[in-house]
Amino acid sequence: MNSQTTLYIVGAGPGDPELLTVKAARILKKANVVVYDRLVSQKILDLVPKNTKKIFAGKAARNHYMPQDEINKLLVSLAKNNQTVVRLKGGDPFIFGRGSEEALELAKHNVPFEIIPGITASAGCGSYAGIPLTHRGVATGVRFVTGHCRNGKHLDLNWQSLADPDTTLVIYMGLINIAKIKDELIKAGLPATTPAGAVERGTTNNQRTIITTLEELPSSIKKARLKAPSLLIIGRVVELAEELSWHIPALSNDYVKSANKTLLLAAHGSSKPRIDNPIFSLAKNLSEQSTFDEVHCGFLRQSPFITDVLSKIQTDELIVIPMLCSNGYITDELIPKALEKVDKNTTVRVLDPIGLHSDVPHFMAKLANSIIVENSLDPSDVEILIAAHGNKNNPQNADQTSLLAHKINKKMEGVETKAVFIEQPPLISDFPRLTTADNLIVIPYLIGSGLHAEEDIPTMLGLNNTDYSSSPVVGPISSNERSIWYCRAFGFEDYLKDTILKLV
Ligand code: SAH
Repeated sequence: MNSQTTLYIVGAGPGDPELLTVKAARILKKANVVVYDRLVSQKILDLVPKNTKKIFAGKAARNHYMPQDEINKLLVSLAKNNQTVVRLKGGDPFIFGRGSEEALELAKHNVPFEIIPGITASAGCGSYAGIPLTHRGVATGVRFVTGHCRNGKHLDLNWQSLADPDTTLVIYMGLINIAKIKDELIKAGLPATTPAGAVERGTTNNQRTIITTLEELPSSIKKARLKAPSLLIIGRVVELAEELSWHIPALSNDYVKSANKTLLLAAHGSSKPRIDNPIFSLAKNLSEQSTFDEVHCGFLRQSPFITDVLSKIQTDELIVIPMLCSNGYITDELIPKALEKVDKNTTVRVLDPIGLHSDVPHFMAKLANSIIVENSLDPSDVEILIAAHGNKNNPQNADQTSLLAHKINKKMEGVETKAVFIEQPPLISDFPRLTTADNLIVIPYLIGSGLHAEEDIPTMLGLNNTDYSSSPVVGPISSNERSIWYCRAFGFEDYLKDTILKLV
């Protein structure tokens, strides 16, 4: 071993490359060899000099690539021939990172080492999801536990001690055992209504956050199809996310790019769109399947989101698709205003709002028609309600929505189609009283809005606890001698992606 050899066990942080410590960045730049884990982001690996050897030693739950003792041996042997060896790990090396096991092995072989801490997933995800892990009067402490069990054994935690409503519980590697975790905590006395959250790929541009209750955590995770790495946070502090969430995934610094062709989905939304708003995954799907160099989405009224996005992007050609179907925002005014920030050399094309493209009414009519045919309904006894979002007193909304209803009406002779705004009286919960037909088909017309059609509309209709994950249509559900069919969140399906791909 070279007398000046040092092996650095370095924490790379949870994902955002800027969360690397200054010390870690300095050591990475002078490394001769780097042994890294699956959770280390590419952007961080990019800091390693080109000539430095990089060895992947990643592990995925239940799928171990390189056994730990092999990694240990590898580190000891690398230290013999290299001056600066870096063992780079996601988060912090000493928190569920097995950094200490590796350090023990190094100590045994007299390899000099240093540990450089990193921001652990709890700190990263907590901050970026707006969930403080402790908060005066809400949580007096926090516990980090693993939800993963060794070699397929039973998860055996001290549930009694974990079920403490005054302490925040953070669970690493908890996705696989989430159902058991929920059951055991509730059995041990933690109220089922305890706020609970899950953060997938926290601190990255792809972060997704679910905020729910302990009881609902497994089903919400399943519905959103969360994957690893995801962190679970259980405790009253989770409630604070409502006010404190600030991170809009696509707005991180590495968002600024220079591209030939860029697509922008100009959405509407509440002043704080939920991070799991499906428009983000739509943008991601589009970027994977289109010829665009960049696909972004921005919320028009979420100052300064769209303007920020637009002032940062450098692109030769920008195509803007208003994702506003029927809501309170006046596309004709807000979009041109937002576009003032775009570089003068960019060619800009603004398409019609997505909801009015001929495919949309066609799709809705087809959906409704299939319900009528499959259930042998008499068309004169069916009414279609287009559940839109927005202020009905805004003339553009009223125009757009009635135009849509009109287009559907034309395709569905004899079936009455009405458009209603779910946030304005009459609320959607009043629909059953307001219509006379025995059969109601409800189609949500919300794209990129602050509302979650899949949750909000069924709740308003009293269709609670309905599993709408497997089929595009739910129902019929009987209410007051009337049958209601609910079509799942129109707009976030593959269908919408295909429509956009056709348009551009
Ligand atoms: N040493 C790491 C933890 C490694 S264990 C640290 O300190 O963060 C791996 C688990 O960490 C994952 O299963 C997940 O629960 C959590 N995790 C790591 N990075 C994460 C991220 N960016 N978002 C959410 N969870 C993350």
